[in-house]
Amino acid sequence: MISKNYFKSLGLAEILEKVTASERLSIDDGRKLFECPDITAVGALASMVRHRLHSDKTYYVLNRHINYTNICVNGCKFCAYARERGEEGAFIFTKEQILEKLRSAPVKPRETHIVGGCHPDLPLSFFEETLTAISEEFPEAPIKAFTAVEIAHFAKLEGISTLEVLKRLQKCGLVMMPGGGAEIFAEETRNKICPKKISAAEWLKVHSEAHSLGITTNCTMLFGHIESIDERLDHLDRLRKQQDASKGFTCFIPLPFLTENSKLEIEDPLTGLDELRTIAISRLMLDNIPHIKAYWVMLTVKQAQVALQFGADDFDGTVVEEKIGHMAGVNSEQALTRKELEEMIRGCGFTPVERDPRFNLIS
Ligand code: SF4
Repeated sequence: MISKNYFKSLGLAEILEKVTASERLSIDDGRKLFECPDITAVGALASMVRHRLHSDKTYYVLNRHINYTNICVNGCKFCAYARERGEEGAFIFTKEQILEKLRSAPVKPRETHIVGGCHPDLPLSFFEETLTAISEEFPEAPIKAFTAVEIAHFAKLEGISTLEVLKRLQKCGLVMMPGGGAEIFAEETRNKICPKKISAAEWLKVHSEAHSLGITTNCTMLFGHIESIDERLDHLDRLRKQQDASKGFTCFIPLPFLTENSKLEIEDPLTGLDELRTIAISRLMLDNIPHIKAYWVMLTVKQAQVALQFGADDFDGTVVEEKIGHMAGVNSEQALTRKELEEMIRGCGFTPVERDPRFNLIS
């Protein structure tokens, strides 16, 4: 337990008062937290919020990730996953191959997670047929699929609005969207790392449309590349403003940038402590988003365990097969079992709680 006086000595007395009173932190508060010399004090504040919201619960899901293609027209500078059509390593799955992946999952999934690249001519009807087939065969594994970037890409290919795309996919079983493609909202930096990707305003608009239809979504931030601390704080602030307006974000996923196979050259790669500090500050700034994920695929399992002490309350899930982070060079496992997830969570002093994609608890 850290004393009030110690927080005062770090210049965090006012922030402690706000956190205790559940008041919103300002961007300046966020800056102070990034500058605080004692990361454990920042973690302690985030833990206060995490325990108030979730007590000692840590959530996980039995999920199956499916990355249906890595052929992508966007060519983001940081991406180690995408390929051009015909390039070595390019792949695309058929509907039958996707269904087979779900059939062969080691445990019956309770969430189907589907994302991929922006393929130049895969029609929306392919996704409608695939989602319908999954919904019929795996009704107990609700579908969380497609980033806002993919939704906007489908809309462009079909010549229809993003709202129309969402409505059509919802009819086929889409209940939730993952939060990818947000990267960093600050325009100048976004244009440098992913110039062809939809703008921050478009990303937020697609999520707002999904929320208006009752499709809940996650949200992300890619950090630790060329963005500044102020840009991280601006990103978090834009997310919480969007949440004030449309209220459909369920979970925030801080994604550390992986340097290994990326074409983007970074002078100062992230340290483990930077990761933990950013996760803790995310918990503190995003007062209106219920969950913060320790995404073990990108963080590694051990760092994800530590993140539970820095404000995170969700450990993601079994995953089974993940290509995006692993092609970027992440050195984590491909899959975890329920037993491993529960043991890891218990080993950190938390109680594992199984959930579905929308964080409904599964007894
Ligand atoms: S990050 Fe996504 S949109 Fe960008 S190139 Fe990679 S797969 Fe395509």
